Amino acid sequence: MDATVPVLIIEDDDDIRRLLELALPRTTMTISSVGTGSEGVEACRAEDPALVTVDIGLPDIDGIEVVQQLREFYHGTIVVISARSAERDRATAMAAGADAFLTKPFRPRELRSAITELLESSGHRSDVPGADLLDGQ
Ligand code: CA
Repeated sequence: MDATVPVLIIEDDDDIRRLLELALPRTTMTISSVGTGSEGVEACRAEDPALVTVDIGLPDIDGIEVVQQLREFYHGTIVVISARSAERDRATAMAAGADAFLTKPFRPRELRSAITELLESSGHRSDVPGADLLDGQ
């Protein structure tokens, strides 16, 4: 498996988006990102990524609604990222079709291992030994 794994980030907050981009290993993933829900749905349709992260609080469409729209055509992995950790939000996200629910703030290392595990369980190899450059910083 030499090809990089395409990952789409749907997140309107520049800082969080940068953090997500930095946390994921570029050697094994091709990362693209958009800042609104509608762009996210379009990009997902066009790019068919292996994994999508969806922020709950987006400027146009609620992240849960984005997940519902994605699940009409998308069969890859969806990770919902929320600033709210309420158990009800998690349940709503999972019911909408998300595979995982992560809460902000997150540590880059935790995020990366969660995403790597999800990709591995869906048959993608997405991490490399020694890709721990971010850790300890
Ligand atoms: Ca947001």
